[in-house]
Amino acid sequence: AATRDGGDPVRCYEPSMGERAARRLRLIRGFSAAVARHDVRVDFQPVVSLGERTVIGVEALARWDHPELGLLLPDEFVPVLEATGQIAELTSFVLDESLAAARRWLDRGMRLSVAVNVSVGNLAAADFPDEVATLLAAHRVPAELLTLELTESGVSSEREVALPVLRRLHALGCHLAVDDFGTGQSSLAHLRRLPVDQVKIDKSFVLGMGTEYGDVAVVRAIVEMGHTLGLTVVAEGVEQAAVRVALAEMGCDVAQGYLVSRPLPARCFERWLDSLDVHPGEPGAAAGPRT
Ligand code: C2E
Ligand code: MG
Ligand code: MG
Ligand code: MG
Repeated sequence: AATRDGGDPVRCYEPSMGERAARRLRLIRGFSAAVARHDVRVDFQPVVSLGERTVIGVEALARWDHPELGLLLPDEFVPVLEATGQIAELTSFVLDESLAAARRWLDRGMRLSVAVNVSVGNLAAADFPDEVATLLAAHRVPAELLTLELTESGVSSEREVALPVLRRLHALGCHLAVDDFGTGQSSLAHLRRLPVDQVKIDKSFVLGMGTEYGDVAVVRAIVEMGHTLGLTVVAEGVEQAAVRVALAEMGCDVAQGYLVSRPLPARCFERWLDSLDVHPGEPGAAAGPRT
């Protein structure tokens, strides 16, 4: 947006349909080369235990540093790659980078779990569990350190296709999480029928906890029902100290959010870890700054 000397009202730049289509095409055509050039990378956001206040793992989040378009976020490029089938290439890349990082941390005595987001398209590929097993073996990472995050809409819309694949992933020993919980159509009762270990409460509810009583009630209900079903409950989007306190009081198990740290490139994440008082995995390790 820009103001001109004449004092015109600020106008927001609205790309036309043609411009949007052209940008989309550019992403589709440029993706594989971008991976090869290392323009696509994985950032890691710490995940902390609310009870012990220790760092227990990370979520891997894809970024695309485009030479002309600047930093692209997954909300733009993931749907494009899902539509063309190129999502399989992104998932392979993110899994490989994440497991390599988990191995590096294990070699330094830190047992951190890594969570990778997967799309419905990944679950539609019958050989996906074989690929995961191959990568776990190649990096010598125990399966229980890998969590695969699926969106609620993903598991409910293509349940028939996904279920055998989910069962095989679970049989490998990987953990499965339902992401963005609360925004979709499915209920916790429906989750009971899936081989799922974790629910991640959508950040919109967690962000709202500071101001909306309704959001506090929704979060409390998800925590209670999740526990009744034997699931680990994760809150994402924790930005305020008061919200972290409220979540801990509700018995929510795990938190992730800007309060602890934004997603960081691997090197920065490792420096951040080093800056903590105690190493993760050890009793008494600090979960980020105490605010
Ligand atoms: P998600 O899996 O729900 O990931 C959490 C998103 O919330 C991330 O956005 C993260 O940066 C953001 N976030 C974390 N803490 C806070 C907070 O305290 N406040 C706020 N406002 N936001 C917070 P990001 O990285 O832009 O990713 C967006 C979505 O893109 C992800 O949502 C996930 O669904 C998808 N995604 C990211 N990486 C991948 C990938 O490798 N493969 C696939 N299939 N999807 C991915
Ligand atoms: Mg996720
Ligand atoms: Mg989410
Ligand atoms: Mg999301």
